[in-house]
Amino acid sequence: MNIDKIKSLFPIFKINKEIVYLDSAASSLKPQRVIDALTYYYANNGSNIHRGVYKLASIATDAFELTRKNLATFINALENEVIFTKGTTDSLNIIAESYKNFINEGDEIITSELEHHSSMLPWQQVAIERKAKLVYVPLDSDHKITVENFKKVLTDKTKVVALTHVSNVLGYETPIKEIAFLAHQKNAIVILDAAQSISHMPIDVKDLNVDFMAFSSHKMYGPNGVGVLYGKYELLEKMPPVEFGGEMVHLTNKENATWKVPPYKFEAGTPDVADVIALNEAVSLINEIGFKTIMEHEEKLHQYTLEKMSKIKGVNIFNQKADHAIIAFNINDVHPHDVASILDQYNVCVRAGHHCAQLVSKALNQPSTLRASFAIYNTYEDCDKLVDAVIKARDFFNQF
Ligand code: PMP
Repeated sequence: MNIDKIKSLFPIFKINKEIVYLDSAASSLKPQRVIDALTYYYANNGSNIHRGVYKLASIATDAFELTRKNLATFINALENEVIFTKGTTDSLNIIAESYKNFINEGDEIITSELEHHSSMLPWQQVAIERKAKLVYVPLDSDHKITVENFKKVLTDKTKVVALTHVSNVLGYETPIKEIAFLAHQKNAIVILDAAQSISHMPIDVKDLNVDFMAFSSHKMYGPNGVGVLYGKYELLEKMPPVEFGGEMVHLTNKENATWKVPPYKFEAGTPDVADVIALNEAVSLINEIGFKTIMEHEEKLHQYTLEKMSKIKGVNIFNQKADHAIIAFNINDVHPHDVASILDQYNVCVRAGHHCAQLVSKALNQPSTLRASFAIYNTYEDCDKLVDAVIKARDFFNQF
């Protein structure tokens, strides 16, 4: 697919021609085919899944299960290893809530200061509850997670390693394959937060050999409200469910119950049928464009912008060596929210704040930062408009 045509697949750019959207790390925009799939389901179907024997219900069930099948292929998992959740946060909480049953006093859980709150907080709470020890991989001088530093905290007591794949603030990629290899030698499980990598690079869970992985549909051009929890089948089988209700139970009597096999054991209640069906269109779009094209395009824009931004006096970039197309920056002595408001006047959408990763802000010694994050629909024109708007913001605050 021609990268120049990609922007035209996203209807917002026809409605709002001026918009420069550089906040895809928060949520990506939605292509027409995803919106069409959503409205098609609501207009033509609307039935529940897995329950009805009538035609309409089986059409909905088949469409829903097709997304599972295609997602499994997308990450090289088995179909019954793909659980639908509400999002990355939900997926990561489900793992912690269920796997905490295997955590005992004195066990160690490794995480990092680069984590989004939804990767770190569930394990912080498990550590408090189970009297386990939460251990942080020391970051290197660039604030990256390295294999060398991981080795320093891995011990015979390590039971869980919960790390981000790509930092949502700094765009650094964790060397997770090497880390998983080392963690497994200690019989620890590895949980990967793939919220920021899923739409930017190919992921093969079998090759990385992670035990669990979480990601959100809304960051991969799909609808909000849906996420995925991948888990190795043998682990999912032994883990207890955390939500109880319809469609997850095998047999129940007044006193007790048995559960269905994974993934259904972890999918209690009516799922977000329409959004799961529409997510399939987002997966197909990514497949059709291909990660080679996506990665080349995003990296070109990233390097182009980085070079221009680096030349702006008074701008401080915190991640010159980012592996992925995220630029974290501040204008010296100006609050990031003030800068973001000025950029908005030029229709440039960037994020300001701690990005739900307060430990990263602390590590950078900044109360908050600005973040420009790129996706497949961005253009060189977007990069130029960002650079111009940053210069105008700097001048507005009379920095130079
Ligand atoms: N982890 C990372 C790295 C993220 O960037 C995000 C979203 N900002 C999340 C987890 C949480 O995702 P969600 O809000 O979709 O649950």
